[in-house]
Amino acid sequence: MKLKDIKSTNPYLRLPKLCYDIVEPTPLKKPFLIHFNKQLAISLGVDVEELESDDFLALVNGELKLNGSETFAMCYAGHQFGFFVDRLGDGRAINIGTIRDQHLQLKGAGVTLYSRGGDGRAVLRSSIREYLMSEAMHGLGIETTRALAIIGSEHRVYREEWESGAIVLRVSPSWIRFGTIEYFSHHKKYRELEALVDYAIAESYPHLINSEDKYFKFFSEVLERTAMLIAKWQSVGFNHGVMNTDNISIVGLTIDYGPYAFLDDYDFYNICNHTDQNGRYSFGNQPIVGKWNLKALMNALSPLARIEKMKQKLNEYDLIYRDYYISIMSQKLGFDTQRDDDGELIRELLGVMQKLSIDYTLFFRTISRYGGDRGDILRLCSYHSPMNEWLDSYDDRVKNIDVSQRIDSMLSVNPKYVLKNYMIDEAIASAKSGDFSLVDALFEIAKTPYDEHAEYERWSKATVDKYKNLMLSCSS
Ligand code: AMP
Ligand code: MG
Repeated sequence: MKLKDIKSTNPYLRLPKLCYDIVEPTPLKKPFLIHFNKQLAISLGVDVEELESDDFLALVNGELKLNGSETFAMCYAGHQFGFFVDRLGDGRAINIGTIRDQHLQLKGAGVTLYSRGGDGRAVLRSSIREYLMSEAMHGLGIETTRALAIIGSEHRVYREEWESGAIVLRVSPSWIRFGTIEYFSHHKKYRELEALVDYAIAESYPHLINSEDKYFKFFSEVLERTAMLIAKWQSVGFNHGVMNTDNISIVGLTIDYGPYAFLDDYDFYNICNHTDQNGRYSFGNQPIVGKWNLKALMNALSPLARIEKMKQKLNEYDLIYRDYYISIMSQKLGFDTQRDDDGELIRELLGVMQKLSIDYTLFFRTISRYGGDRGDILRLCSYHSPMNEWLDSYDDRVKNIDVSQRIDSMLSVNPKYVLKNYMIDEAIASAKSGDFSLVDALFEIAKTPYDEHAEYERWSKATVDKYKNLMLSCSS
């Protein structure tokens, strides 16, 4: 459909006024298109021929509105590094309408009521990171917000130095965060709280609308989805980096890509966020932080649902998380059934990987082709005995599974590529000088990370030492 014929709606604006602020985007100067997501455009019913048009650029730059669109920012609060901030909100994101139940949002489109002194902008490097990474998550089959397009500009934005501003057109079935619910609960705005949670249920958990005890069930399902999401993150070695409750989705999506990282070598203690000196959001802590965040959500929901019941559910989190995690890791190791001691075998493997500093993604891709000859696996190890011992147990575990079937299924769940920070940095460095070919290339492998992509083989290797564990800051 042509852009001018698309009708957008604004369902969120049916909520009480405190939930949002009507605001116009402030366009960037001299914008230009960097990349668009053709498949996503098709699924939204946008005519792909329009994606290179001036109208589409104007849409992403906040200059052209969809039919029926009213633009607004959402209000929320959140626990940041454990401390409650009673009002945050979309300080640089502006919603521009809903098509096919997907809410479109411009990140970096200028100040809003919630900007708190910030400039409402996003710089090119962080926008490229979000644009590529959300597609990479989607390609890995992990729930995430997505991005329809990214534009650059000659608009100057100051961070530690002058940089250029960019906008990502983000798309999600929900932008509600744990912190959105916390905002209304904390300020004792119970009418708004109830309206918001009813809205979230109708939008994302419609089967609960008429059920008894719906607010408890809502909590319970958010908990399940959060546990599942984090189990998936752990299984691919994804470190989010800023799991503040304002960055946690109530529908279990990965949102707000900041200083994230994929592990290079397996390291339980990996920290990817420069500002996170204590490692609150380190890789190994993510499942525990998930529970902490759910506790904050539970407290925020306590005016609506019985806290004792929610506490009971929260107590089940560790087991729920563990079951999801072991089941995903078992698939990665090619087990066709689950056995009681699989958890132990997985734990031992991670211990060996930690000790020998083995590249996480490369290991799983390599073992996916393992049929008895240990050479390729042992070449990833600085010394062999711990891995040989583990492989003895593994051989025993898979001895009754057909090898070629196991290999096929393992290759379909163990990606050849993840977007490591050094790769994205390379793409950003050339983008800064006007060459976006690496953005295009990374987008391709992000979409189909299980494919061979022989031309990009170099990105499937272990990260060289000087590029390992690159940390990023929140400033973007
Ligand atoms: P983040 O660390 O990106 O999740 O942002 C935390 C909060 O700060 C959110 O409320 C953002 O909207 C807000 N924020 C981040 N950067 C800016 C900016 N440049 N201008 C205004 N608000 C911002
Ligand atoms: Mg955020």
